[in-house]
Amino acid sequence: MDLFNNICTGDTYKMLIGGKWVKSSSKATQDVYSPIDNAVIAKVQRATVKDADKAVKAAYDARDKIGKMPAVDRAKMLTEIGELIYDYFDLFVDLIIEDAGKPKNVAKGEVTATAERFKYAAEEAKQITGESMLGDTVPWHKEKVGMVMRQPLGVVLAISPFNYPLFIASAKIAPALAAGNSVVCKPASSDPLAVMYLARLIQEAGIPDGAFNVITGSGGEIGDFLSGDKRVRMISFTGSSSVGERIAKIAVFQKLHLELGGKAPALVLADADLNIAAKQCISGAYKFSGQRCDAISRILVEKKVADRFVKKLLVEAKKWKMGDPAEAGVKIGPLIDARAVAKVDSLVKDAKKKGAKVLLGGKEAGGNYYEPTMLDKVTTKMKIAWEETFGPVAAVIRVKDYEEAISIANQSEFGLDASVFTQDVDKALDAGMQLEDGTVNINAAPAHGIGNFPFGGDKDSGMDREGIKFSVDEMTKVHTIVFNPKK
Ligand code: NAP
Repeated sequence: MDLFNNICTGDTYKMLIGGKWVKSSSKATQDVYSPIDNAVIAKVQRATVKDADKAVKAAYDARDKIGKMPAVDRAKMLTEIGELIYDYFDLFVDLIIEDAGKPKNVAKGEVTATAERFKYAAEEAKQITGESMLGDTVPWHKEKVGMVMRQPLGVVLAISPFNYPLFIASAKIAPALAAGNSVVCKPASSDPLAVMYLARLIQEAGIPDGAFNVITGSGGEIGDFLSGDKRVRMISFTGSSSVGERIAKIAVFQKLHLELGGKAPALVLADADLNIAAKQCISGAYKFSGQRCDAISRILVEKKVADRFVKKLLVEAKKWKMGDPAEAGVKIGPLIDARAVAKVDSLVKDAKKKGAKVLLGGKEAGGNYYEPTMLDKVTTKMKIAWEETFGPVAAVIRVKDYEEAISIANQSEFGLDASVFTQDVDKALDAGMQLEDGTVNINAAPAHGIGNFPFGGDKDSGMDREGIKFSVDEMTKVHTIVFNPKK
C-alpha cells in the first residue's frame, strides 16, 4: 500500500498539518486499542495545544485556496474522494471492525454511506446559489439592488465521536469542503485510524495543502483551545451532551452545530403490525450493540397488545448472535471499552433492583462484551428509562394508552429521534406532530442513510440539522452587495 507509506512509521501514525504528515511537537503518542480483545493495534500522535494552533493556522492560511476554488473543481475532488473510498473499501471495512469492533455488515454499510456522501456532496457543491433583491419596499431606497450570495465561512472544526469513526467525520468534512471551507478534523481517540486513511485519500484527490488537517490526541487536552479559537468560524461537533455543552460555553462567536445524545422512544400502538414493530424495535435497539445516538432505547407499548408484542420481540432478539465482529453472521460485537460495559451493567442492575423483568441476557459477557438483553416492565422510576444506554438493551415500558406513550416520550431531556408503529395514518400524523424529536419515523427504526433528510435533535440532543444540503447551508454565510445606481 505505497499510497499510505507516509502516514505512519511502523504502527505509529502521524498527523496531517499543512499538507505534511508530522509528529506531535512533544513527540508524545497514545495507544489505540481494539475493543475486540483490548490489544494495542496502533499509536497515534498526542497533539498539544501548540499542534492544534499549527493546524488551525494551516487551515486559516489555506482558506482562500479552497474558498476560491471553482465549484466545478471542488465537485471533481469530492467525486474523486468517493471513488477512492470505494477503491480501498475492504481496507476501511477491516479498520472499522478492528478499531471500533463493528460487525462486518454494519462496517460495510458505513463505508458505502461515506463514499456516497462524498459523491452526493459533489453534486451539492454545484447547487450553491444566491438571489437578487430590489430595495423598493420603502420610498427612500427604491433604486437599490442587492445581490445576496453564499460564501464559505473559512475554517470549520470537525470533532467526531467513536461510534461511526469514518462516516460521522465525513458527514462534516464532505459538506465543509463542498461549501469551500478549510477543515481541521479531530477524530475520537478510541478509533481514529479510519480518518487517517481518509485524510490520505483526500490529499490524493488534490486538496490544496492546509485546506484539510487532522489532529489526534485527547479532546480533553486540546478541545478548549480549539473551541475558543476565533480563526475557527464553525464548530461541527458530534458527541456526548456534556462535551457539547462545554464547547457551547466556550465558543462565543463561532457558529455551532451540535449533534449530541439521544434516547429514542418507539411507540408501539395497539393497531400496529406487531411483526414489523418487533423486527424494527430489536434492530433499532441492537444494531452496533446499541452504540448509536438514534438507538431505540425505550419501547413504549400499549398494554392491550403488550403480552403478544413482547413474545414477538423475544423471538427477534434471540436471532442476534454475539461474537467476533469479523465473523460472518455475527450481529453483536463488543462495546467500545470497559467503561461502556460498566455503564450498561449499572443501568440494567438498577432496573432489575426496581422490578424490571429480565427476559434475555442481562449481564456482562467477558472482555468488552455485554449480552444482548431484553427487559420487560421497565418503569419511569428506573434510570434506564431516561439515561443514554449505549448498549444492546431492549427496554419495554408498558403504557396505558397512546396519550401516556406520547407523554413519557416527551418527558425525556433528549429529542433526537422517535419511531411510531401504527396502521392508522391519522395517529401516525398526530404522533409525528406531537413528538418533540428532530425526526419521527413511521413504522421503522431510525436510520439516516447518506443524509438526504435533515438529521439532528432538539433539547439536550443538540442544535441545527446535518444532511448534505442542510450542512452546506449551515457551512456558508450570507454575503450581500448592494448597488446604488446614480439617479
Ligand atoms: P464524547 O466523549 O463526547 O467524544 C466526542 C469527541 O469529542 C471525541 O473526539 C472527543 O475526543 C472529543 N472531546 C472530548 N472532550 C472534548 C472537549 N473538552 N472539547 C472538544 N472535544 C472534546 O462522545 P463519544 O463517547 O465519542 O460518542 C458517544 C456520544 O456521541 C453519545 O452521547 C452519542 O449519543 C453521541 N452521538 C451523537 C450523534 C448525533 O448525531 N446526535 C451521533 C453519534 C454519537 P477524545 O476521544 O479524545 O476524548
